[in-house]
Amino acid sequence: MSQSPPSLISLPVVGAKPDLGKNIDYQRFMDCVHCGLCLGSCPTYNETGNENDSPRGRIYLWRAVTDGRIDLTPEVKTHLDLCLECKACETACPSGVQYGKIIGSYHQDMAKLGPAFPRLNGVQRWALFHLTPYARRMAWALWPLRVAQRLGLRPMIDRLGRWLPPSLRRMQEMVPPLAPHHGSLATIYPAEGPRRARVGFMVGCAADAFFPQTTMASIRVLQKNGCEVVVPRSQGCCGALHYHAGLVEPAKQFAVANLMAFGKDLSTLDAIVNNAGGCGPVLKEYDHILEGTPVADQAKDFARKTRDIHPFLTELGPIRPKHAIPIKATYHDACGLSHGQKIRAQPRQLLALIPGLELVPLADSEGCCGAAGSYNLTQPEMSEQLGRRKATNILETGARAVFTGNVGCLLQIAKYLREGDSAFWVAHPIDALWAAYSGEIPRGLV
Ligand code: SF4
Ligand code: SF4
Repeated sequence: MSQSPPSLISLPVVGAKPDLGKNIDYQRFMDCVHCGLCLGSCPTYNETGNENDSPRGRIYLWRAVTDGRIDLTPEVKTHLDLCLECKACETACPSGVQYGKIIGSYHQDMAKLGPAFPRLNGVQRWALFHLTPYARRMAWALWPLRVAQRLGLRPMIDRLGRWLPPSLRRMQEMVPPLAPHHGSLATIYPAEGPRRARVGFMVGCAADAFFPQTTMASIRVLQKNGCEVVVPRSQGCCGALHYHAGLVEPAKQFAVANLMAFGKDLSTLDAIVNNAGGCGPVLKEYDHILEGTPVADQAKDFARKTRDIHPFLTELGPIRPKHAIPIKATYHDACGLSHGQKIRAQPRQLLALIPGLELVPLADSEGCCGAAGSYNLTQPEMSEQLGRRKATNILETGARAVFTGNVGCLLQIAKYLREGDSAFWVAHPIDALWAAYSGEIPRGLV
């Protein structure tokens, strides 16, 4: 095991800010013994081969900045900003380094020093923080595109999109084929057959706007498996977009709003189920996010009851679906599920229940696809490299469908597969499970 420090960029000590990094227990830095065993798992290091773009390099850089040994120059920031926060390094690290907390401390300090994600323009920043986290605003914003797609005008929109500035074109290109929106949801969906559990359901924001069919599939699959599903109207975004940008106060407000929304039902719910791999880790951190506030106890309850839909169903004992989907399919591990929540086997176990479905392995299935929350906007070049790599790996499986449990991955993978084979079915595992329960299998697939 090598103890040698990484070969860092050489920087003069000029005007170091002694107040940086004071939001983290210094021991977190010391946990890293510089062994380098995490390097091969890091997507950005694998792309650039630069030690400063590796977990070990970034820990070393941020620690040196907080010590005042080097200045936080644009070059240092570039290496820290290129991190996807995928946490593949946490999975690989034998010393239990909590890398997410270390890079989180950097983002929190940056949010205090200036606008979050300085590479974004005003429109992108507004879309990220004032549109995407609000389900109703998102539904309205996507409504003209939904109508245009139903009228068969998507090719025309794509052609017109070429005239947009690159930053806006990237946002337009991410929009997938949109299913009709379900409109307002009921607040309670009864269990089918004898009730086995009473669960709350987190609808989310962007996930529901882009993939309303997955919201409905999740509720129906839960009902089918004997769950009464409670869907409070006043719930909202989990706060992940703000939290990962270091904007802790707005993230707290989203968390408190969700506590209030589930408030009176919380004690009677067996679980609060979510279907978005990127949201689950933040929902499970509500106890930490709201520590020391007047709602700390409710936050603990909320975090304790938060469950991703895949393990929730496998532990409940899922009913076997009857309709066959006789195709070859593969599965991409969303970082928020595999690295963030250690959920790997359960989505595959649910897919294995589907008659006729042949699940084939995907090379580097746990490698980040480059979506990583807002990363495709903040770091478009690296995001594109990782998106293309993921699409190539998927196409090499010979599958006709790819399943993944997170909205960002669904958008990213669908975008890069559209460049090649548009007949690919890109969906959430729960969409596949519902199709096998209901027989509503996408046209042209079988
Ligand atoms: S983060 Fe972990 S695996 Fe990576 S260098 Fe530090 S101790 Fe080693
Ligand atoms: S979070 Fe991902 S991109 Fe960032 S250092 Fe760790 S492995 Fe690399």
